[in-house]
Amino acid sequence: MPRLYFDANATVPPLPSVVATVAEALVEGWANPTSIHREGQRARHLLEEARDVIAQSLGVYPSELVFCSSATEALHQMIWGLRIAVGNKPAAVFPGEHSACLNPLKEWPKVRWLPCALEEVATIIQMAANNETGILYKMPQLPGSLRLKDCAQAWGKIPVDLSDCDAAVFSAHKMGGPRGAAVLWMQPHLPWLPLMEGPQERRRRGGTEDLPAILGLAEAVRFLPERLEQNAHLESLRNHLETEVLAWSPDYSVIGKDQPRLPNTSALLLRGHSGESVQIALDLAGFAVSTGSACHSGATQPSHAIMALGYGEDEARSVIRVSLLPETKEAAVEALATALKGILKR
Ligand code: PLP
Repeated sequence: MPRLYFDANATVPPLPSVVATVAEALVEGWANPTSIHREGQRARHLLEEARDVIAQSLGVYPSELVFCSSATEALHQMIWGLRIAVGNKPAAVFPGEHSACLNPLKEWPKVRWLPCALEEVATIIQMAANNETGILYKMPQLPGSLRLKDCAQAWGKIPVDLSDCDAAVFSAHKMGGPRGAAVLWMQPHLPWLPLMEGPQERRRRGGTEDLPAILGLAEAVRFLPERLEQNAHLESLRNHLETEVLAWSPDYSVIGKDQPRLPNTSALLLRGHSGESVQIALDLAGFAVSTGSACHSGATQPSHAIMALGYGEDEARSVIRVSLLPETKEAAVEALATALKGILKR
């Protein structure tokens, strides 16, 4: 049986036309968009065309987009850039945010943990969807505050709303694009200072743009409507898997089951089992899933995102995350359920 991949929230394979676009651009679009000769100007034209496609899809102005190499970089650029400008006032953030967001906040002098009293808070950072549980979050609203949204997991899985925020980040490799391209969107006139000096990206992010990756991202964006539809169909498959798993034992539960969630994600809490052992057994049986743990410095730590929801360390260590690719079929989910049931019975 071919291997089956259920780890779409980690990354997804680039779409075939994205691979073709990137490959072609490596041969044809290698020139530096900042150069003023004809080769450079052609590269500049392609770069701006890509920016237009992405901006149109997001419903923003092209000039408001800054190309970065990853959502991690975009979050660092945004958070560090804001700290330089407004870091004397507290920032508020949910403790279950991705480390790409929590790490740059270590430098912020005062951080409040959401949900919290928002008075004095000047900056709010909130993910649209959690990578581990799929739970969707609303942007807390506080008049006068700056609101940054992490859309890395939401993009391509659910419609993304930018009307309730001032800045947002997006990652290509989670929605069918290539590694090496991400987008930072920010409203003009934000009190923000660039970290990397250079003439590129209107002086907001120095460094030669990775044109092949950016063209690949724009190509993936053209397929977003189709991808959103495919993802919406995953909800019933995901629910079917959860219903089966919950029927096996009263000790099993689904994190965030009654909350709005990404349609492709299931964080299965299998009390009495080690998530890591279940993951390894599934891997050996041909199924790629992930756990609610992350490897830091060689040691496996229980997930801070799951513990932020009130679960204990043992529970966090008993979680496996199943995240479906848009094209996942019922037979693949059935095969996963059968394999998982066998492993849990051992
Ligand atoms: N934010 C969230 C919610 C994520 O899930 C991830 C990656 O898993 C990131 C940010 C970082 O994205 P990237 O891999 O593009 O740096």
